[in-house]
Amino acid sequence: MKVTFLGTGTSSGVPLVACQCHVCTSPDWRDKRLRCSVLLEWDDKKVIIDVGTDFRQQMLRENVKQLDAVLITHAHFDHIGGLDELRAFNFVQGKDMPVYADVLASNMLSNTFAYVFAENKYPGTPNLELHTFQDDAFELLGKTINPIEILHGNMPITGFRIDDFTYITDAKTLSEEAKAKIKGSKILVVNAVREEPHHSHFNLDEAVAFIEEMEVEKAYLIHISHRFARHSAIQKKLPANIEVAYDSLKLDV
Ligand SMILES: [Zn+2]
Ligand SMILES: [Zn+2]
Ligand SMILES: [Zn+2]
Repeated sequence: MKVTFLGTGTSSGVPLVACQCHVCTSPDWRDKRLRCSVLLEWDDKKVIIDVGTDFRQQMLRENVKQLDAVLITHAHFDHIGGLDELRAFNFVQGKDMPVYADVLASNMLSNTFAYVFAENKYPGTPNLELHTFQDDAFELLGKTINPIEILHGNMPITGFRIDDFTYITDAKTLSEEAKAKIKGSKILVVNAVREEPHHSHFNLDEAVAFIEEMEVEKAYLIHISHRFARHSAIQKKLPANIEVAYDSLKLDV
């Protein structure tokens, strides 16, 4: 499987609009972070996790001409704000787009984008096929998708394990059951918003402790805030098996 980091920034992106801080004014291109999403490619299939506010820009940057499905971690706007833009793939591919979400995220999507899921739709709005999953693993285009329930503050959200690859964003607390599903992964992507504590996200210490506990070969940090540090400064603080992800980073899993 091929993984492309479409975005690695926290909810506001980096730079934050109008901010003049040390990180937002960094000359390093790795400090330009769009909202979090990854593109997964296997066989001739292309799937994304989350369809955030920067989805359109990400699809154009990575020259994505085909999209077969969307997996949703949760319905905060930085992870779903590009939902309307999925209609481009409706136009080009001539079919509905399958979108997979847990029960809470499905309900929130239907409320936030009521016009998309309405009975009588305005012509030209996106055609989505909403699939609501529970805790159990499900099949998608030849792969087994294992949903992992995570707490984001007190909100239950979903991480995904596919083969040896696990993607977790916006985590603050994980149950032993969730950890058991992750253990044995080779590559773990996980959020680390900044160094100071945060009520609903892992900070750096929490993310590093979690990665050590999961005993993975390699981990990549995402959902980075401008209040963290510049990319190069964060990287210097990390053990050898942990990297700060950056937009357009590609992995072969
Ligand atoms: Zn987020
Ligand atoms: Zn800033
Ligand atoms: Zn969130």
